[in-house]
Amino acid sequence: MELKDKLRILADSAKYDASCSSSGSNRQNKYGMGNTSISGICHSFSSDGRCISLLKILMSNCCIFNCKYCLNRRSNNIQRATFTPEEVCEITLNFYRRNYIEGLFLSSGIIKDADYTMKLLIETISLLRFKYHFNGYIHAKAIPGAKEDLVKKLGSLVDRMSANIELPTKEGLKLLAPNKKEDNVTQIMQYVKEKRNRNFVPAGQSTQMIIGGTNETDLNIMEKSFSLYQNYHLKRVFYSAYIPVNKDRLLPSLVKPPLKRENRLYQADWLLRYYNLKVSDILDEAKPNFNLLIDPKADYALRHLEEYPKEINKVNYYELLKVPGIGVTSAKRIIQSRKVFKLNFDDLKRMGVVMKRAKYFITCDNKFLINKDMLKKEFIEANLVLDNKPIIEENIGKQLSLFG
Ligand code: SF4
Repeated sequence: MELKDKLRILADSAKYDASCSSSGSNRQNKYGMGNTSISGICHSFSSDGRCISLLKILMSNCCIFNCKYCLNRRSNNIQRATFTPEEVCEITLNFYRRNYIEGLFLSSGIIKDADYTMKLLIETISLLRFKYHFNGYIHAKAIPGAKEDLVKKLGSLVDRMSANIELPTKEGLKLLAPNKKEDNVTQIMQYVKEKRNRNFVPAGQSTQMIIGGTNETDLNIMEKSFSLYQNYHLKRVFYSAYIPVNKDRLLPSLVKPPLKRENRLYQADWLLRYYNLKVSDILDEAKPNFNLLIDPKADYALRHLEEYPKEINKVNYYELLKVPGIGVTSAKRIIQSRKVFKLNFDDLKRMGVVMKRAKYFITCDNKFLINKDMLKKEFIEANLVLDNKPIIEENIGKQLSLFG
C-alpha cells in the first residue's frame, strides 16, 4: 500500500480521539529540529478543530479489541493499515518542514497486545527524537495494560501522554468496551502523577470520555472528571460526543452526536478548574443534567439569585467570576482598576465585561443598570436564552481532511 493511502486511512481513523491539546510544554531546541511552546499552538492542520496544529494519526487501525462505539473495532469490515516507524518519521518530518504542523499526536489500535503496541510507539518516537533529532511537541497515547517500564520509557520521550478513561463509569465500560479495564487506565495515570517532572511527560497527562454512548447523567460525568483532576492531577479531561458509527443493540440510537451537551460539559469543566465552583454548585440529584438552553454559569446564577447582585466595587475575585459575562481577564482588570478608582458601567464595558449578560447580576456603586423590579428569574432566563448564540453544530468536532 502506498504511504499516502496509509496516511489517508490512519489519519481518518484517528479523528474520533479528542484527547489531544498541544499546550503546556516549554523546551528550547539546542540541536535538531522543532521547538515546543508554552502557549497553545493551534493553527490549522490535521485533526478535528480541537487540536489543529498536530498531525494526528494512528500507528495502526488494526485492533484486537471490539469496543462497540469504535470504528476500528475488530469486527468492523474496514480498510486496515499499519505504519512502520520510519514511515511515521518521514511523514512527520515532511509535514513539519513544510510548516503544516508543529507536532505529532500518535495513538494506535492494539496490535497483538498492549506491550507490543507500546514498543512500536516507543520505537517510532525514539527514532524521531534520536535519529532525526525532532524536538517538537509529541503527544502519545499510552496503551492500558502495558508494562510499567514501557510506560516509563514512553513518558521519557513525549511531552504529553494520555490514557483514555473512555466512559464515566465502570459499568458503562463493561457494557461497551468489555476488553478494557478502568484500573489499567488509572494505573498509568497514577504512575504519571508520581513520576512527572521536566524530563517525564512535562506537559502532563489528559484523558478522554465519550459522552452519550451510555446513559450516565451530566452529574455522573462531572463527578468523574472532578475525581480524575483531584486524584491524578490531569491537565485536561476531553469530552467527546458519542458519534454513531456502528450499529449495535447496546448503543443509543442517536442520529447526530450530542454536541450541545459536549459544549456544556466543557463550559462546566472550565468552571471547576478556574472558577472555584464545585460539582455540587452546578448539578445535583434533583437536577442531574445541564440546561441546554443556557450555559452552566448563567444557570448557576439563576438558581442562586439570592447571591446576587454582586457589587462590582466590593466583591472578591471569585465572586466576580460568578457573574455571567465576567471572565478571568475582566475579573482581574476589575480588581486592579478599582484599587485606583470607583468603577461604573462604562468602565466595565471597556474592560471587556459582556454587559448584556452581566447587567442582571451586578450593581456599580449600588446602582442597577436596569430597573430592579424587572429582575425576576423568568425575565432574566428568557433574555439569556435569547442572547445565547446557537452552536453551529456542523462545525464542531469536524475532522479537517489532510487531503482537502
Ligand atoms: S481499543 Fe477499542 S477504542 Fe481503541 S482502537 Fe481498539 S476497538 Fe477502538
